[in-house]
Amino acid sequence: MYLADQRWPELGSYFESESLAFVPVGSTEQHGPHLPEATDHLIAESLAREAADRSGYLCTPTVNIGVSPHHRQFHGTMWVDAPVFREYMESLTRNLAYHGIDRVIYVNAHGGNVEHLREVGRRLRDSECLYAIEWMWDESIPELVDDLFETNGPHGGPKETAMIQHIAPELVREDKLETARDGGLTDWEMDDVRMHGARTFYDAIDNTDNGVLGDQTDATAEKGQQLFEAATEQLVDLADWLSAREFDALMPRDHVD
Ligand SMILES: [Zn+2]
Repeated sequence: MYLADQRWPELGSYFESESLAFVPVGSTEQHGPHLPEATDHLIAESLAREAADRSGYLCTPTVNIGVSPHHRQFHGTMWVDAPVFREYMESLTRNLAYHGIDRVIYVNAHGGNVEHLREVGRRLRDSECLYAIEWMWDESIPELVDDLFETNGPHGGPKETAMIQHIAPELVREDKLETARDGGLTDWEMDDVRMHGARTFYDAIDNTDNGVLGDQTDATAEKGQQLFEAATEQLVDLADWLSAREFDALMPRDHVD
């Protein structure tokens, strides 16, 4: 059920029997020469809407702009500063609690949001307002992602390319897949960008000239459909698991004696 499509009296019956909501969270940022800036919020929204359709749980409108200052050198990237994002996410989540929601899944598709959504979840739980957790789609299906692609990449790589080929093929520049691969960083190892144990880079452009990593020519819409199906299943299962928990068991434990 998509919140923004309902009339308010209809939502009352949902809040009477259910207390879970999906909140899709993405970004609007460069995704190389082949993918739209909408990539992350399109992925988050379509997974959350699909999981809501299949399960009957509520899905809220999408947060389209996240924490992306590390992509700012590329045209069009939008972001808000981390403290602003945290305040905004906490505020909109507290407003869901006011209507009777007591557990939230942030359906996230942008790595830069992860630590901030975790912090917001902690604040809400520490204040015993509500239980909110962050869920990142590709981390729910790591083995499938590994099986499908030889040379992955954390940003604008084949997994995101395949997802957009499946979700919104008209927005993919198929003629730019080779350019994306050849102009970016193909062999990506975190170890290569560490210096004596320290992560030395801050911005995407420090590692890749065109903003993306991995081999995009390995992506197809069929692979995207497989990823989409598998991640949706994980999300529905997570929601069912979370819905079945007692609220008190989700709250912080008491201090030891
Ligand atoms: Zn992305």
